[in-house]
Amino acid sequence: MLSGLRLVSEAAQLAAHRHSGQQRKGRGDEPYVNHLAEVANLLAVATGGADAELVAAAWLHDTMEDTDTTKDELTQRFGPRVAGLVEEVTDDMTLSKDERRRLQVVEAPTKSGGARLIKIADKISNIRARIFFEPNLMQRVELMDYVAWAEQVVAGCRGVNAALDAMFDDAVTKAGSAM
Ligand code: ZN
Repeated sequence: MLSGLRLVSEAAQLAAHRHSGQQRKGRGDEPYVNHLAEVANLLAVATGGADAELVAAAWLHDTMEDTDTTKDELTQRFGPRVAGLVEEVTDDMTLSKDERRRLQVVEAPTKSGGARLIKIADKISNIRARIFFEPNLMQRVELMDYVAWAEQVVAGCRGVNAALDAMFDDAVTKAGSAM
């Protein structure tokens, strides 16, 4: 088993490599890796750096959904907990967007504590990326729609880490003044 620092470092490198060339949705067409770095750091901060596997899983959280990375590969390289966390936050991409969104709301309360934390951090990052300075109508509608859904998902994820819950509420407040 890798030490904590090596685990996080290897996870960051693999994620950067696998998502290379991808861009995230929202402001500025940032490289996708910026989203992963933000989610990982939110969790490192919220947990006081106490859980390297959680931070590694945060780096990797979209690899199974958006790249050809498999659970077996993650298990071999990072161990069963990291692989399990990534699997828990991976949507079934054969389903429609509406169905995937519905399932995230329904299934959130059944997830492990770690998976719930990754989900909250993911939503914080995605809300922040949708806040534009002087947004146009489409950007406002997109932000409102995303926040309304994210609040439903996060309602089922709260109670694991008060600091992260508060960071989500802060992102929603900021979004509110940008709508
Ligand atoms: Zn994500």
